[in-house]
Amino acid sequence: MERNDEMGSRDEDEDDEEGQDAGAAKDKAWDEMDWDGKGLLLKNSDRLRYQDSMDRILLDQPEVPECPLCREYMLLAGQETMGDNQFKAHTAEALDKPLLAAPFALDVYVCTSCFQVSKVLAEPHREALMDNVRNSKSE
Ligand SMILES: [Zn+2]
Repeated sequence: MERNDEMGSRDEDEDDEEGQDAGAAKDKAWDEMDWDGKGLLLKNSDRLRYQDSMDRILLDQPEVPECPLCREYMLLAGQETMGDNQFKAHTAEALDKPLLAAPFALDVYVCTSCFQVSKVLAEPHREALMDNVRNSKSE
């Protein structure tokens, strides 16, 4: 700051202004060069394409959960069906029947960044689960 003021008072004409503009342009060019110089150009276009496609996929996705680990958006990869032989239902003390009875489906989501997998109870089974909670035994 102080040094700039000193230079300004020394020149005191339009040359000073031109000098500043040239300096700013040079800085910008250097930034871009440095960015490309590190070999990031190709990686960036790959990443942009990935991001672009992802955005389009996510637009059609009814639910977009966030990754519990890195907070990136997760893509719906498919559904897993839980059958009787895979799932042993638990009946809570306060309930007459199991909270969740097989068969039911889970939506399987994959993180687009760290590939963590998350499973969420699929839509048609949520209401049933909430009903089971609502119908807890009254004392
Ligand atoms: Zn993640």
